[in-house]
Amino acid sequence: MIAPGETIGILGGGQLGRMLAMAAARLGYRCHIYAPEDHSVAAEVSAAHTQAAFDYAAGLSAFAADCAVVTYEFENVPVAPLAALGEVPVFPHPRALETAQDRLAEKTFVTKLGGTPAPFAPVDSPEDLRAAIARIGTPGILKTRRDGYDGKGQWRIMSPEDAEGLDLPDQPLIYEGFVHFSAEFSVILCRGQDGEIRYFDSAHNRHEDGILALSTVPAPDAITAQVPAARDLAAKVADALDYVGVLTLEFFATEAGPVFNEMAPRVHNSGHWTIEGAVTCQFENHIRAICGLPLGSTELAADAVEMRNLIGEAANDWAEILKDPANHLHLYGKGDVRPGRKMGHVTRLTFD
Ligand code: AMP
Repeated sequence: MIAPGETIGILGGGQLGRMLAMAAARLGYRCHIYAPEDHSVAAEVSAAHTQAAFDYAAGLSAFAADCAVVTYEFENVPVAPLAALGEVPVFPHPRALETAQDRLAEKTFVTKLGGTPAPFAPVDSPEDLRAAIARIGTPGILKTRRDGYDGKGQWRIMSPEDAEGLDLPDQPLIYEGFVHFSAEFSVILCRGQDGEIRYFDSAHNRHEDGILALSTVPAPDAITAQVPAARDLAAKVADALDYVGVLTLEFFATEAGPVFNEMAPRVHNSGHWTIEGAVTCQFENHIRAICGLPLGSTELAADAVEMRNLIGEAANDWAEILKDPANHLHLYGKGDVRPGRKMGHVTRLTFD
């Protein structure tokens, strides 16, 4: 067990790291942020900060020397250089990163565990794309296997002609059949070092331009009916990875049941509502799990919860948002407002 007062290392310096560090601080831990960017919004609320590249071995080993445990808030941390962390425990185990970083590995892994993703095929050339479309059909989505997030690195293909003359990026791709879904939802669980799993309520997630816009709990029946099967798969994923911490799986609710979209080996935007809306939020439960503390209750703390992302200019409305006493405003301290950038979120609780 890692006792309060010790230092937790966090790889990645964005808002998820910021909210993890704030939850850790409440329990009396120090956090040390390791991130390459000039301005880290996680470092601003943490005790220590190393600004260095993720593959800089000397930086990683000096960081590890200051930490009792290391975790990450960013799933594209390169895995091989993490060997430089040496003996310090890293939770979740980096094998979870390896699986989640590559859409092909992730979908193959989940399929082996009995999950159902959209039909998919790897694409490394125009010929592969033609063959994938012939097998899977259109419409479909071509995605980069790595480094894609918030709908970036994706091309919708409505007909085989769309694929002709497409200027394919020089990196491995995956073609997926388009899923006709009634709603999107996520399963967020926390697994302790003893294998105990606790689930948060599944939120109904609505995206705009590929970016999460709104998460609401409780979800409609079309989702809750599919949550048990989705949880079952998420538990299999967590057990197979001997996972420690918060894990997220995203799903499409379809007539045929839950279709797996992707997993994130970390706390998740669709779980931000838990800060006020659950007895113990995803950030605190992640900290508890990686430190070997008892997990907290994931029960709802209200009858209904709504979390709305403040994307780009929407964050400029902060003064207006604060006029409503029911709003819980979170701003991430990012300097520049840019279109599509997650600047903060607002959570509202409802009591019947
Ligand atoms: P992703 O980055 O893969 O999570 O994709 C971002 C969003 O694009 C998802 O949340 C969906 O709204 C949509 N999307 C992604 N893949 C598919 C698919 N195979 N079929 C239908 N919609 C998709």
